[in-house]
This record gives sequence, C-alpha cells and structure tokens, in this order.
Amino acid sequence: MTTIDLDWTRCDAHGLCSRLLPEKITLDEWGFPILDGRELDPELVRPARAAALACPALALRVSRKA
Ligand code: SF4
Repeated sequence: MTTIDLDWTRCDAHGLCSRLLPEKITLDEWGFPILDGRELDPELVRPARAAALACPALALRVSRKA
C-alpha cells in the first residue's frame, strides 16, 4: 500500500500541500495539515508525489509499504 506521511518536526504550515492534494489533506485552523492516513488511491499517487516534492519544508513523504 502507498501512503503519504508527514514529518511534524519539519512542517511550517505553508498550506501548499492541501491545495495540491485536497483529496487527502485539509488544514486545521492554524494552517497545519490534517492527513486522513489511509492508503492512496492509485490515481492519487502521482499528485501525492508532486505535493511532497513541492513542500518547501520537505515534510511530506510518499512511501510504499508491504
Ligand atoms: S506544504 Fe509542507 S510545510 Fe506546508 S503545510 Fe504542507 S507539509 Fe507543512
């Protein structure tokens, strides 16, 4: 399964990720992302990777787990 995960120690609440991947990421009232934690649907893997690459803080990671 493929997921997108967040390193909270890096996130600076830029909010860009929620604009690039609104299907999986919303923002709380302070602008920090809320991830649903579920497996990425196949069509969302590419947009998730794009969001991870675009994160200015390099706080997102797309990973594949057995
Ligand atoms: S783009 Fe990166 S730094 Fe900004 S809110 Fe999302 S995870 Fe955090």
